[in-house]
Amino acid sequence: MTDQHRHDTRLDRFVDSYSQRTEGMRVSAVRALFSVANRPEIVSLAGGMPNIKDLPLHHIADSLAAMIETNGTKVMQYGSGQGEGVLREQIVDVMALEGITAHPDDITITAGSQQGLDLVTRIFCDPGDVVLAESPSYVGALGTFLSYQCEVVHVPTDESGISPTALRETIERLRAQGKRIKFLYTIPNYNNPSGVTQPWERRLDVISVCESEGVLVVEDNPYGLLSLDADPIPAMRSADDNVIYLGSFSKTFAPGFRVGWVLAPHAVREKLVLAQESATLCPPVFSQYAIADYLTNNDWRGQIDIFKDMYRARRDAMLLALAEEMPEGTTWTRPAGGFFVWVTLPEGLDTQAMLPRGVDARVAYVPGPAFYADGQGARNARLSFCFPPPDRIKTGVRRFADVVRRELEV
Ligand code: PMP
Repeated sequence: MTDQHRHDTRLDRFVDSYSQRTEGMRVSAVRALFSVANRPEIVSLAGGMPNIKDLPLHHIADSLAAMIETNGTKVMQYGSGQGEGVLREQIVDVMALEGITAHPDDITITAGSQQGLDLVTRIFCDPGDVVLAESPSYVGALGTFLSYQCEVVHVPTDESGISPTALRETIERLRAQGKRIKFLYTIPNYNNPSGVTQPWERRLDVISVCESEGVLVVEDNPYGLLSLDADPIPAMRSADDNVIYLGSFSKTFAPGFRVGWVLAPHAVREKLVLAQESATLCPPVFSQYAIADYLTNNDWRGQIDIFKDMYRARRDAMLLALAEEMPEGTTWTRPAGGFFVWVTLPEGLDTQAMLPRGVDARVAYVPGPAFYADGQGARNARLSFCFPPPDRIKTGVRRFADVVRRELEV
């Protein structure tokens, strides 16, 4: 037996040993596109990376250097499983901008809101439990739910988000089938990928259906402060203290620190901290102090305004280019904030099958089925306007439209 052969058989045994949970794990469509989308000749309308080059980097560097100098042994030490008190207090002020009144004790800091999603799913869901989500919904959340072997059921949406009638019907249908629904996962502001925002009245209607049906609401709001047209609509959590709220500094500051948070009713918070301790002992301490330092020593609200001006110019460039370039029969959303436009192509087209032709034409996008757990979305594509500058967006949309036009000719 060769060494190679011995090695392979051992590997086979490991493969047999993987937990059933890993069967639910799938390659993120966005990550799979990364290497292609990063080629310089390609205009990537695929990724959702925030554009952080306008941050005051020198000022941040000086401030972090001073923090290490004066407080290094504290900020590089293990910390609290719930997260550092100083940052939890500042987060209360951040959430107040969206109408939320909260106590720092009810906040658990996480490694990005992605880890918040993981912890919430971990404490609520057993295999086979149902999670309700918008149609379409955030690919990273779907990945988390599936990795815990949940069944994701998409609730029909319209241009104002989740349809309350369809939500009630879905809940009743699933219950009649004997299914256990654990929560509704919703992104009411500038949904990723659809760009849709739920008006205030609709938020109240969704909360009221969930309340009367006894379904928990998990509100994911990383883009809330990136409103491009008007002041942000108050968060769902501002209307109901039982809503579990996920927040993040990834889009309002920088994603590399990996700091987000979960605001949850007290009893849930206790379970979240236990889950956090078993996952990581404590969320990243240095990152938390770096964010606390940034919030203290910078005009972070002014910086969000700078981000908003930049994203608004890109959103407008994309909407104008779509109006000028797209063939008849194509529709798209007009997001009032966030990073994404959701395009619906004419009947019969398939964005997944079209992607290699898009790459040949030097444009990348994310095909719609990535944002559904059940294979819907064949005619859809998510186009992001956050990263490329306006002239590149224009070029990208023109290339995308050319590919669509050629598909229609076949
Ligand atoms: N939720 C949504 C809707 C997102 O778009 C993202 C990031 N793309 C996340 C959560 C995760 O963000 P982070 O972990 O960086 O806070």
